[in-house]
Amino acid sequence: MANIIEEILKLIPQKDKISDTSFEGANIILYTKDKDFFLNNQSMIKGIVDTIKKRIELRPDPAITMDVEKAEKKINEILPKESGIGNILFDPQRSRVIIEVEKPGVAIGKDGELLREIRKQCLWVPVIRRLPALRSKIIENIRAVLYQHSDERRKFLDKVGHRVYDGWMRTKKEEWIRLTYLGGARQVGRSCLFLQTPESRILLDCGVNVAASDQNAYPYLDAPEFKIEDLDAIIISHAHLDHCGIVPFLFKMGYRGPVYMTAPTRDIAALLALDYIGVAFKQAKSGIFDVNDVKEMVKHTICLDYGEVTDITPDIRITFYNAGHILGSSLVHLHVGNGLHNLVYTGDLKCIATRLLDPADTRFPRLETLMIESTYGGKDNILKPRLEAEATVIQAARETLEAGGKVLIPVLGVGRAQELILIMNEAMETGKVPHCPIYAQGMVWDVTAIHTAYPDFLGRDLRKSIFHNDKNPFLSPNLRRVGSRKEQDEIIKQDSPCIIIATSGMLTGGPSVEYFKQMCDDPKNTLLFVSYVGEGTLGRRIQEGERRIVLTDGERPEELNIKMRIHIESSLSGHAGRTELMRYIQNLQPRPKKVIVNHGEQSRCLDLASSIHKVNRIETEAPKNLETIRIR
Ligand code: ZN
Repeated sequence: MANIIEEILKLIPQKDKISDTSFEGANIILYTKDKDFFLNNQSMIKGIVDTIKKRIELRPDPAITMDVEKAEKKINEILPKESGIGNILFDPQRSRVIIEVEKPGVAIGKDGELLREIRKQCLWVPVIRRLPALRSKIIENIRAVLYQHSDERRKFLDKVGHRVYDGWMRTKKEEWIRLTYLGGARQVGRSCLFLQTPESRILLDCGVNVAASDQNAYPYLDAPEFKIEDLDAIIISHAHLDHCGIVPFLFKMGYRGPVYMTAPTRDIAALLALDYIGVAFKQAKSGIFDVNDVKEMVKHTICLDYGEVTDITPDIRITFYNAGHILGSSLVHLHVGNGLHNLVYTGDLKCIATRLLDPADTRFPRLETLMIESTYGGKDNILKPRLEAEATVIQAARETLEAGGKVLIPVLGVGRAQELILIMNEAMETGKVPHCPIYAQGMVWDVTAIHTAYPDFLGRDLRKSIFHNDKNPFLSPNLRRVGSRKEQDEIIKQDSPCIIIATSGMLTGGPSVEYFKQMCDDPKNTLLFVSYVGEGTLGRRIQEGERRIVLTDGERPEELNIKMRIHIESSLSGHAGRTELMRYIQNLQPRPKKVIVNHGEQSRCLDLASSIHKVNRIETEAPKNLETIRIR
């Protein structure tokens, strides 16, 4: 083994006190069987971290941790009741105890004193995790998968560390970087970028095109240069199916390496994948992966916070920054080689503040090449000011609700759904629309519950309202969960006005289509579009004016006569509009030398690339799928 561990041990005065060492991804873990050594040397370790610039942690050896039952009792004594203790889960392989609490601040104590107390009295390393304020069975299941496979997880993380460090301090080969688009070039959907260097094979996103028929739905994983057995790591920018939908399929094909993403992205991505299988089965298509593949994805995920710098291979180091698009969405900064080149992949981004999130970050330590989305990158894609757009949806909702109708809002489940919940809830509280239930259909509810588990990822104002004013809009009594098909039917039968938020956003399947079928012939109702709809989808056909539609995906053809009102408001998008994108390039610090435009319909990609070039005199490209660009 290359010996970063030997280098570290040289710096420890009593290195014979170290009983074992292992990697947890790029983090280096030292174990000791000496209680005093464990308790008295945290600052010495901090010193080494500063010298060697790698994350190092000293833990008690599993042999000296306190008996689990006794430790659980002790922890309950140490932590105050107001912290709202939930599950206490022991991870004996790694000497960690995960303590779920409602109020992490209370459990941590002033300057972390309660955590120090747990370390001292129990000889376990406490990890505090927030219990979501809205409970959801599925989140608990996702988390349980991680706790259940503790031994496997330790081995996996150690293997990842070896991949990162075994080439450490090796003499350098010639350096180069190549980027191949396996999907998501000049199109929206199936985003998948393959980045190669002499040391690394990385995928940035791996999504499905939900609007496409089968053969065009998936990225070009059959491209000759892509071999799944050589893949080192997958990085997921955010939890939308067009960026993460195919990751479980890679596990089905045998991939067992790491998937890097933020914690909210992991939870939402797992949920979407499970829902996607459900949708696939309902449409009588066989799923291309199953529940076990989703489980493997969760087990191989390594979560990073914004700003946390991590080596993922011997020559690539990544950092996530806020992208402002949906909860947990990231701009991925890649530092390649020893200062050779710095890239930022934006995934999807929003450059102004929304109710939910802060705007995308613009400052990076270094930046030479930017890969940016262009969903609304065309000259004509000027979005209205946010407040104006909000006012129009509020007005549409008010007119419908006052006339006794229902408002159906098809959404992607994550992003617009929660934004709309915030907008409508506030409109009710301030009397701008009549009070009525906001029904969050199954999937939308579960994703909303995940939002309540990660308030630290939310925008400044919302965070303030939750933490300082103790006012969490996601806990509003107006918001109601819809689980079963029966509940769904009852809502439609009810004569009272309401707002229904349901997936899918493009009306390509899922409950939104069921609601739509039953609501479309009543002129009192309104269909409110706030999300992007792909070419060829039912959503796009309605937006383009079709009012007589024959659905052929059921047992027999079904003719729909659309009499409900149609209202389109694309300015509430979670994507940056044209003006935002152009301004974003100008606000970037440092200014990139090259901009590659992706994730947009062909004309918009080309238009944005040429405008960025004209205005900023920066080299731009808008590659096609399967094209490779040599970046260095
Ligand atoms: Zn997205």
